[in-house]
Amino acid sequence: MGLDIEANKKLVEEILEAYPDKTKKDRKKHFQINTEETKESCSCSLKSNVKSRPGVMTPRGCSYAGSKGVVWGPIKDMVHISHGPVGCGQYSWGTRRNYANGTLGIDNFTAMQITSDFSETDIVFGGDKKLEIICREIKEMFPLAKGISVQSECPIGLIGDDIEAVSKKMTKELEMPVVPVRCEGFRGVSQSLGHHIANDAIRDYVMGKAELAETGPYDVNIIGDYNIGGDAWASRILLEEMGLRVVAQWSGDGTLNELQVAHKAKLNLIHCHRSMNYMVTHMEQAYGIPYLEYNFFGPSKTYESLRAIAAKFDATIQENCEKVIAKYKPQMDAIIGKYRPRLEGKKVMLLIGGLRSRHTIGAYEDLGMEIVATGYEFAHKDDYERTFPDMKEGSIIMDDPTAYELEELAQKLNIDLMGSGVKEKYVYHKMGIPFRQMHSWDYSGPYHGFDGFKIFAKDMDMTVNNPVWSLFDKKAKVQPEGASV
Ligand code: SF4
Repeated sequence: MGLDIEANKKLVEEILEAYPDKTKKDRKKHFQINTEETKESCSCSLKSNVKSRPGVMTPRGCSYAGSKGVVWGPIKDMVHISHGPVGCGQYSWGTRRNYANGTLGIDNFTAMQITSDFSETDIVFGGDKKLEIICREIKEMFPLAKGISVQSECPIGLIGDDIEAVSKKMTKELEMPVVPVRCEGFRGVSQSLGHHIANDAIRDYVMGKAELAETGPYDVNIIGDYNIGGDAWASRILLEEMGLRVVAQWSGDGTLNELQVAHKAKLNLIHCHRSMNYMVTHMEQAYGIPYLEYNFFGPSKTYESLRAIAAKFDATIQENCEKVIAKYKPQMDAIIGKYRPRLEGKKVMLLIGGLRSRHTIGAYEDLGMEIVATGYEFAHKDDYERTFPDMKEGSIIMDDPTAYELEELAQKLNIDLMGSGVKEKYVYHKMGIPFRQMHSWDYSGPYHGFDGFKIFAKDMDMTVNNPVWSLFDKKAKVQPEGASV
């Protein structure tokens, strides 16, 4: 059954009433209510990937976060320099749970904070000389590091430093790749341009620079899985059980070598379309490697994806695929049997980055939960086009929603669960609304694949049905009609 289209339209309009006229007009374009027509045509008029309004508390980050935080940071055997003042590197230090095997500081540098720690003299006289010194120090201190990336923070692009020239010189001198990345936070409107810039840096400085010792017909790459809480590992085992060989994981638990040899695979499997579509499109054009989008959230989507992947190969892989599904289905049915009665009909609202706001819907629905509203921080039109068909009629779809809009919606829709980020979490706790972090998995996970679904279901139940919520009078927290905002 669908949701009430007219009531939700009115609800959004009421919430936007609090803004000055110009803001109201603008923010209205970032909301759309799903209808039969938008579901079927996959087309939307929703405005996305444009600058946030000043002063409205956007949930967005910057280009540096998209490049260093998301794409490059997880490459474990390279040292990533946060180039600029101390803040960006410090605040992004160890906060994203991109798991990686290895020994920290020896052959794995993911959970370290390496920065050029700009001072005033570096701003005035430039930081290129300092960058050279740091690269040499890295080579000396971390002899097993396979390469360096230079992740630019805001001032680098403003003061005219030539990090490309330094990187070229250092690549030669240190005999390993030093990759300049122009991901200054003022570029673009969100993390999204950082992904694109980071993809282009992989293409220009790393891709195709090594050869695979041997290739096979079942070689695939996992593209756009950052191994949050072990997600990529929980995905990889299924592909391998099916008989495929995973050549590269981009970039969770990934290595420089995996970036360099990925062009030898037969098929690119892309999980996060938003952050790495540039790469798979390029690999298709330059190396003729086809790509396939897949979704390993929840059993329904995982079965569907495994079959779609197997269909790209021969009968052996297709038979193996059915065996894998037959092996895990009873386990998945048991999980659904246990948790669905406890979660059936619960209303969920989501606000995540550029993928999970649509990708996790199937997993919630496997548990009988209903997504009444979903939104992205930095999605583009093609992401929304993929979202409308997956959402129920009458559900609310929103772009770059402000803290105020989300809080109002959560209360007025009387949701049973909010899934978003750490900035949001404690606000909702205080409102008496169960909340799960859908970036960090609330320090749990993995959530991908069959192993992941067991944890996902347990986590949702643990949160939604936690006895603590009965201590709140949730209704009392709902803003009284006509109250000023
Ligand atoms: S906007 Fe600039 S200063 Fe802020 S985190 Fe991003 S790179 Fe750093």
